[in-house]
Amino acid sequence: MPEHRDTAATYHRYHIPTQPAPDIEKWPSRFKVKVRRAGLAKLLISEVLHYGPRKDVILSRPCMYGVFSGPVGGFMPREEHCVGCLRCTTEFPEFVRIEHNPERRSLGDSYFTFNYVDQIAYEASSGLVPVRGAGYRGKFGGEGWDGMWTDMSEIVRPTRDGIHGRETISTVVDIGYTPNFLQFDAAGQPIGNTPHTLSIQLPIVLDGPQNELAAGVAQMYARAAAELDTLAVLPFDYAVGLAAYGAAVVPVLRPEHARRLSQLGFTPRMVEMQGWDEALYSAITATFPDAIVALRTGFEETGALVSYAQRGIKVFHLLADFHGRSADGSFVLDLIREAHKAFVDAGIREEVTLLASGGMIAAEHLPKAMICGLDAVAVDTPLLVALQARFGGECSARGASSFRLPGNLNATWGVQRLKNLCASWRDQLLEILGAMGLREVRRLRGEMGRAMFMKTLEADAFAGLLGYTEAKNG
Ligand code: SF4
Repeated sequence: MPEHRDTAATYHRYHIPTQPAPDIEKWPSRFKVKVRRAGLAKLLISEVLHYGPRKDVILSRPCMYGVFSGPVGGFMPREEHCVGCLRCTTEFPEFVRIEHNPERRSLGDSYFTFNYVDQIAYEASSGLVPVRGAGYRGKFGGEGWDGMWTDMSEIVRPTRDGIHGRETISTVVDIGYTPNFLQFDAAGQPIGNTPHTLSIQLPIVLDGPQNELAAGVAQMYARAAAELDTLAVLPFDYAVGLAAYGAAVVPVLRPEHARRLSQLGFTPRMVEMQGWDEALYSAITATFPDAIVALRTGFEETGALVSYAQRGIKVFHLLADFHGRSADGSFVLDLIREAHKAFVDAGIREEVTLLASGGMIAAEHLPKAMICGLDAVAVDTPLLVALQARFGGECSARGASSFRLPGNLNATWGVQRLKNLCASWRDQLLEILGAMGLREVRRLRGEMGRAMFMKTLEADAFAGLLGYTEAKNG
């Protein structure tokens, strides 16, 4: 068989299989359904007179989602079925009222608000893209990521086909080192620095919690990463023993692990060093010479990143807190741009890989962060929310935040929830790439021509006019 035929025969289009994975812990319903019983009774009497004994028809009114279809109908509404379509209250305003449930609104914290929690709960349970049938009724600008808009004004027809599977839009990204140019000897063999990368199928890395983990959680992350063909970043002690998923596991190493590297039980494709440590770096390169070594450090180190690149580090995993802030209060959007620019200015941006975590909690943050300069996002708190974690108060500081996972967590459910979330985020990424006319996600990195900032546009239009105040970016 000719070589190209062979390739075609073994080619598999990347696809994430999704399956419904409903909540295992009962969360407060999204809405409270308030019914005045006298009004409902009157409606039911008129319905009985009209439809006779057809109980199924009578109990389906006025809600097609089954809120009023319980054993005693609307006298005890099944609020967990309410999707907030408002049909009932529009049709019968005299006796039905729909309100947000304050208990549901208390999920999450001041940054990871209940709206984000709701969205992720839907994505993780269904694997689908959330669609708001009634249209978007929120603001079109704001602080943080909401102050950044993306430009879709390309001729887009060809890649719309990619969204529907008629052609491919690649979401593969490479992590590692690619030299700015290659050199060859007289015999045509490459000499000097050669590329050293690994590829993952989507620009999402699963960044596991770095504190104590409940039993089975590390394995859940590792298995999900292996099935997604991406990476799970896990503390060294939890990575030990995960040889079955070794190709997908990235252990986080601290200086005290230098003597214990052989206990890992497998040869990792990549490791992360928690902060720069010369002795640890030497131990890693001696024990795992083929592994990519990433530096996991705060955005505060941005000024020193280029010097680490000169010492051999080519992959950087930069951390903001869970609210996307650095120690000086800068927002992750600006921090990513700064880090990206540091390498562009040094002329080595193509040689290194930038990953980051913190404050990227919705599907649209993924392409925005890449436009700002990331190669891939290391997703953290959204994965915990996908597993129905409850926040223990405000969770911003990495070392001092507590999340409570459901007690009845099981591996199959957890892996499917993580895969569903990634599938939904990838589909939303494909929408953006298709709308921009891009056929591969690698072209999105640092593509600032696609970005517009509310602050800049408002200043262009209104600066100098009475009443104008400068919008905040971060
Ligand atoms: S708002 Fe919609 S889903 Fe909720 S009870 Fe009313 S009709 Fe049913």
